[in-house]
Amino acid sequence: MPTREAIERVVERVRRTPLGARIPADWERLEDLPFTAKEDLREHYPLGLITVPHDELRRVHASSGSRGKPTIVAYNQHDLNMWSEVMAYCMTMAGVKPGMVVHNAYGYGLFTGGLGFHQGAERIGALTVPAGGGVTARQALLLRDLQGQVLCSTPSYALHIAQSIREAGLGPDDLDLQIGLFGAEPWTDAMRTQLEAELGLTALNLYGLSEIVGPGVAAECPEARDGLHVMEDHFIVEVVDPKTSEPVPDGTDGELVFTTLTKEAMPLLRYRTGDIASLNREPCVCGRPFARMSPVRGRYDDMLIIRGVNLYPSQIEEALLHVNGVSPHYQLVVDRPGQLDELTLHCEGKGTNLAARVKHAIREQVGVTVRVQLRPMGEIPRSEGKAVRVIDRR
Ligand SMILES: [Zn+2]
Repeated sequence: MPTREAIERVVERVRRTPLGARIPADWERLEDLPFTAKEDLREHYPLGLITVPHDELRRVHASSGSRGKPTIVAYNQHDLNMWSEVMAYCMTMAGVKPGMVVHNAYGYGLFTGGLGFHQGAERIGALTVPAGGGVTARQALLLRDLQGQVLCSTPSYALHIAQSIREAGLGPDDLDLQIGLFGAEPWTDAMRTQLEAELGLTALNLYGLSEIVGPGVAAECPEARDGLHVMEDHFIVEVVDPKTSEPVPDGTDGELVFTTLTKEAMPLLRYRTGDIASLNREPCVCGRPFARMSPVRGRYDDMLIIRGVNLYPSQIEEALLHVNGVSPHYQLVVDRPGQLDELTLHCEGKGTNLAARVKHAIREQVGVTVRVQLRPMGEIPRSEGKAVRVIDRR
């Protein structure tokens, strides 16, 4: 846990914002400080939570919030430097070295993915290919012709790129890929196996969110690949019960909460991410001292309650991808045709009794009954950014 002085510095900054009035004068521990929620950012849209003079700002990004106003985040030069540093740390940890070719297929623009990885790669001294999203057929050619060694993208888009590589008549052996840095949406070990087989690389998970800085809040080490090391020099991590807001013990799933320690323009105290994960403070085989968070299971908002069973789309994914013959593209549709919720899984694949096998695997591993709708190969929409996994029609 950081020192009281380190937390005090953030508290003093936040006191300059409209949220400062909530901070009790006699706080002693981090737990005494108020939470910050996405609604606070919306309420003070666009730049109401800034603690530096306006002319000190150097950039804004916006979160990909699907409903209502976007949430704007702002950075001064110090913050951009810090962001480059944490990204460079995460990418170096993954094995990215000066001179390597980094193919960055995260979207550029208001979304923090593109520029976050871009800055990290430049800080390391890699050759950056700012491919961005879109024109997927071109990604395969660029990867081959520029000999990309590191692929940065959402995991769902990486699968889409893998498909375009196949369609171009190429395979992993025609490429030089070594490392995949995949984030911005929840994904599972089953997806990792798929990505590694299709792209011939080591797939690593990287986590972040624009409110805290962007990508670079936490990342897997290749030695353990068992949890994502949180960049604790810059962010304090907590996990709380999403309903009661009480801290939960290490190893228990709950909502990730972050406090920024070193951000200047828009520091946040105990920001509730809505992302569900657990913490592990046991020493890691890699020797790095930072606590590890589990991969994000899903967003608290995305938790489905189907006939009384709580589940995240990632649990369905894990079960689905263990079924032979199924493609890793899927979508869940929740409906309530009568009194009861119905969950339909749209997926693609080939093989005998595939629908029955998928249904069985999900019932065995997740404990819910889904209707399985097999669709022809290529019919599930491919994403070029964050995949839409759930369509709720209730
Ligand atoms: Zn480690």
